[in-house]
Amino acid sequence: MEYPGNLFVVAAPSGAGKSSLVKALLELDAKLSVSVSHTSRAPRGQEQHGREYWFVGLDEFRDMVARGDFFEWAEVHGNLYGTSRAGIESRMAQGDDVVLEIDYQGALQIKQLFPYAVLIFVLPPSWEELKQRLIRRGDTQPEVIATRMANARVEIDQARHFDFVVVNAVFDSAVFDLKAIVHAQRLKYAAQRRNRSAVFQALQLD
Ligand code: GDP
Ligand code: ADP
Ligand code: 5GP
Repeated sequence: MEYPGNLFVVAAPSGAGKSSLVKALLELDAKLSVSVSHTSRAPRGQEQHGREYWFVGLDEFRDMVARGDFFEWAEVHGNLYGTSRAGIESRMAQGDDVVLEIDYQGALQIKQLFPYAVLIFVLPPSWEELKQRLIRRGDTQPEVIATRMANARVEIDQARHFDFVVVNAVFDSAVFDLKAIVHAQRLKYAAQRRNRSAVFQALQLD
C-alpha cells in the first residue's frame, strides 16, 4: 500500500519513555499526529476513552478483528491492542505524517504492510533505570512490574529488526534524536519531489 505521508512506528518496552517522548515530539511538530489505538484493557488513572485509547470490550475487539478493521493487532501483557484502519487511513491518504506507538509485534506487521514505514525502537539506558521508571510512574502494581520487566527482555531483543534506535537517557537528547529521524525522512528524494515540486520543475528534475 502506498500513501504520500510518512508513517513512523515507535516501539519500546513499557517504562522506556515512549509515551512521554512521542508527546513531546507532537508538541514540537504540528504536521505529526498520533494514532489512537483500540484496546481490550480497562482504563487506568486519568485515561480517557478516545484520548489515550479507544477502550472496547474483548467481544467488540474480537468482532473488529473478524471484520478486518485493523491494520495490525497483537496481545501485549495479556491484553489486546490494535491500530484501526479507520484511524489512520484517511490521514495517510491526505499526505499527513502519522506516528504509531505500538509494540514490536505490531511494528513488524506494519512493516510488512507498509515497507516504507520507519521503525524506531526506544531503549532505556539500563535494566535498573527501566525498573526505576516503572516504579516511579506509580500507576502499576509490583507484580505487574515484574511481568513487564520479564517481557522487556523479549521486547528489547527485537530492536535489531528496527531501522533506528533512540536511547532515552537524557530526555531532551532523545527528543532531539526523534526529531532528527522525522526530519531526515522528510528530506528523502520522493518526499522532496512532492513537497518542493516548484524547485524540481524549475530544474527539470523528475
Ligand atoms: P504502557 O506499556 O505502560 O504504555 O501500557 P499500555 O497498556 O498503554 O501499552 C501496553 C503495550 O501495548 C505497549 O507496548 C504498547 O506499545 C502496546 N500497544 C499499544 N497500542 C497498540 C496497538 O495498537 N497495537 C499493538 N500491536 N500494540 C499496541
Ligand atoms: P512508556 O510509554 O514507554 O511506558 P512513559 O513515557 O510513561 O513510558 O515513561 C515512563 C516513566 O519514565 C514516566 O514517569 C516518565 O516521566 C519517565 N521518563 C521518561 N523519559 C525519562 C528520562 N529520559 N529520564 C527519566 N525519566 C524518564
Ligand atoms: P508524563 O510523565 O505525563 O508522561 O510527561 C509529561 C511531560 O513531561 C512530557 O510531555 C515530557 O515533555 C515531560 N517529561 C517526562 N519525563 C521527563 C524527563 O525525565 N525529563 C524531562 N526533561 N521532561 C520529561
